[in-house]
Amino acid sequence: MTKLLEVNDLKTHFFTDNGIIPSVDGVSFSINKGQTTAIVGESGCGKSVTSYSIMRLLDSPGKIVSGQVLFEGQDLTKVKEKHMRSIRGNDISMIFQDPLSSLNPVIKIGKQLSETLILHQGLSKGKAKLQSIQMLTKVGIPRAEQVYKSYPHELSGGMRQRVMIAMSLSCNPKLLIADEPTTALDVTIQAQILRLMKNLSSDFQTSILLITHDLGVVAELADRVIVMYAGQVVEETDVYTLFSEPKHPYTKGLLSSTPKLNEDEEDLESIQGNVPSPSNKPSGCYFHPRCPVAKDICRKDMPALKDFSNSSKVRCWLYEEAGEDMTHAGNY
Ligand code: SF4
Ligand code: MG
Repeated sequence: MTKLLEVNDLKTHFFTDNGIIPSVDGVSFSINKGQTTAIVGESGCGKSVTSYSIMRLLDSPGKIVSGQVLFEGQDLTKVKEKHMRSIRGNDISMIFQDPLSSLNPVIKIGKQLSETLILHQGLSKGKAKLQSIQMLTKVGIPRAEQVYKSYPHELSGGMRQRVMIAMSLSCNPKLLIADEPTTALDVTIQAQILRLMKNLSSDFQTSILLITHDLGVVAELADRVIVMYAGQVVEETDVYTLFSEPKHPYTKGLLSSTPKLNEDEEDLESIQGNVPSPSNKPSGCYFHPRCPVAKDICRKDMPALKDFSNSSKVRCWLYEEAGEDMTHAGNY
């Protein structure tokens, strides 16, 4: 498979009055063409900061301090801002949790949509209108002509998210970054939006980087999964292996705190404790204060992210000298 995006040892820090906060702490992963890759983890683990770093949309005092973001071989951390703007308009687009914050409230939907097409694809006004209405129809909006003439606040949350998806796909991006795209929506609408994204990604051959804390969403949409904890990747694998044979104790904790079908919310175990503050991480493995199987070495030394098999990586002392024959190591 061809790599579309390759992130190498990315470090993003926030330079605050109270000191340097290492939010993204040496993250590496890659995304293949046409694949949907999810980044999961609790909030505060650096998922969003990773995606903002890729897009170079970090606000001060956040700054990429080292590492590479190779998009089709080109290091996005090094390109000029003007070029980056064209990449954001044409090759990589982003949808957020709350479409209201990214849609302009005083401009009608149609105008926002067609202006993107006029700007980035050089379409005439008439053609842009036609294509906008087609896009709105494609994302499952009934009476698209009417929605074209509406203001964002006149639409429901689910409709607004559809509009955002139409907007982000209107330039036919190679990569779509979706940060908690369905978190604000109710369950039924959530499922519809996820199905829509899935269909669109196969129709348009768009790769998706999905940022979510919701493993249900991961199961629905992802091919590959990256588990982040305290600014690091702790496990990377395919979606099937994630659910059938999770390796890292944090991944196992996330899975046992996710409701399964026919299971009462009350039966769920949550992971004890909290994600450490990025400015005050523990020694050794960052997860050790919460880990039910921590050993002495875990408190002292940080394990490396190592290949577990051809397609899986894990950062945990339990698997350090492991390899394939140590699958049992994580059973407890
Ligand atoms: Fe738990 Fe140790 Fe593995 Fe960290 S390295 S997850 S503390 S077993
Ligand atoms: Mg976030």
